[in-house]
Amino acid sequence: MNSHDTCKRCGDCCRSGGPALHRQDLPLIQDGTIPLADIVTLRAGERAYDQPSQSLKPLDSEILKLKGRDATWTCIYYSPEGRACGMYDSRPIECELLFCRDTAAITAMYDKERLARADLLPAGHPLLELVAEHDAKCAPQALEEAVKAARRGDAEAGAALKEMVVFDQEMRRLVAERSAMSRDITEFLFGRPLRTLLRTMNVNVYEVGGSIRFDFGTGEK
Ligand code: SF4
Repeated sequence: MNSHDTCKRCGDCCRSGGPALHRQDLPLIQDGTIPLADIVTLRAGERAYDQPSQSLKPLDSEILKLKGRDATWTCIYYSPEGRACGMYDSRPIECELLFCRDTAAITAMYDKERLARADLLPAGHPLLELVAEHDAKCAPQALEEAVKAARRGDAEAGAALKEMVVFDQEMRRLVAERSAMSRDITEFLFGRPLRTLLRTMNVNVYEVGGSIRFDFGTGEK
């Protein structure tokens, strides 16, 4: 192997987003190396970057991913100051396999054996019921359709959108308040807040006198 064949640890891959988690990473979650508070769920139907096609596509099924830091997708475990991974010796499998000069290994396992929320919350866990209820009421696809219709001036769609945003924020508030977890796991349980998903569609949510309003911007991103 010559010097061009080894990882230079430049951090480019860590800055472009943390890894999706796979079955091989389960022990890291079970032993607490990766707490649930450091995971965000990208739900089925959400538009996410698809590496093979290098485009934004709606997800067929959900992905658990390490969160970003400082309101970016830079992996939460990456230290920009030290230009290093905070868990390098036990990093997730995608990080272990990713080598930017030869992506064959990561491509081969990219969408295989991905973890889902149900793999981490045992059957019958009370939070699973809340997750299912939230998914049913705040599905990313329904959100996108409501935005399209509301942009065309459909008042019913606007009201449905408002209901979804209120339900989403109330669910997060209640779970954060009532769960005994020391850190916030709502992005693991319910994915990114609907306000965040709406921002990616160029819709800003704001409040006037306690009532939710939308600014639909100039078009879809
Ligand atoms: S876990 Fe470590 S190696 Fe993997 S993306 Fe995050 S900082 Fe980089």
